[in-house]
Amino acid sequence: MKTIGFIGLGIMGKPMAKNLLKAGYELTVYDIVPERMNDLAAAGAKRAASGKEVAAASEVVITMLPNSPDVKQAVLGPNGVLEGARPGLILIDMSSIAPAAVREIAACAAERGVAMLDAPVSGGEPKAVQGTLAIMAGGPEEVFEQVKEILGAMGSSVIRIGDIGSGNIAKLANQIIVALNIAAMSEAMVLAAKAGANAETGYQAIRGGLAGSAVLDAKMPMVLAGNFKPGFRIELHIKDLVNALETAHEVGVPVPLTSSVMEILQALKVAGCAHDDHSGMIQFYENLAKIQVRR
Ligand code: NAD
Repeated sequence: MKTIGFIGLGIMGKPMAKNLLKAGYELTVYDIVPERMNDLAAAGAKRAASGKEVAAASEVVITMLPNSPDVKQAVLGPNGVLEGARPGLILIDMSSIAPAAVREIAACAAERGVAMLDAPVSGGEPKAVQGTLAIMAGGPEEVFEQVKEILGAMGSSVIRIGDIGSGNIAKLANQIIVALNIAAMSEAMVLAAKAGANAETGYQAIRGGLAGSAVLDAKMPMVLAGNFKPGFRIELHIKDLVNALETAHEVGVPVPLTSSVMEILQALKVAGCAHDDHSGMIQFYENLAKIQVRR
């Protein structure tokens, strides 16, 4: 069984790392916020003082960090993964970052004899806890085959899409679909509530038909409870849409709906909601219509 290092123990990383421990892997962990390692250490993981130390103790290193600059810092920076890596180490970045940044990091890793996969996830905190994430991987097939079992301890759907960076291309598409779904749900449910339908029973009636979706079932109960505790922060969805817009424009794809939803998220950020869950997008529509959609 391979020894694993895990860097980034936030909302997603912590439960994912716990599932690796549960599956019997020997685990070394690191987070720049030292208290975030406490739970994992109590569950049997070794603490490290840097990414370099994590790499020195591991055959496979997983990173689960907010954005491209954080992954570059943790992997390429001083005391980072590449400083401690032996040739043959496999690096799996499971964060959602820009595909171009993935390719840049993979090229630097290759110079040190380190193979890399990008393997971002979808499913949010509940599926991270259950170990049922959807994992979308990019990178060489033979590397993917070596770590498929490890990914399977964190996800119930583990699919290699293609070359390095393609995991994050799929994830950008995923994030466009999720953002537009939440916006559609918000627009529709504010209309339903203000026009006189009961929000709770209206939602129950809708969810069984064609408009029912995983997004609706994950986010509508949060809206009805007025609970916008993240989950997935609006600021992280802004980060994903920045990466989506940049990638789309680079390859020549206009994305008009993504641009519109980006402006809704920007308005919420200005209103002080950047740390709300992205289900909090409904507050933009509620403010426009002067009504709240609650139980
Ligand atoms: P988070 O902010 O809760 O966690 C990130 C962790 O990384 C924090 O504990 C932080 O201290 C640590 N960190 C930051 N820079 C570091 C560094 N240089 N070295 C070591 N540790 C460092 O974020 P999250 O919600 O867990 O998301 C992580 C990634 O997963 C993001 O790319 C996000 O877009 C993606 N994602 C999140 C969700 C979700 O529902 N939260 C779902 C799918 C994908």
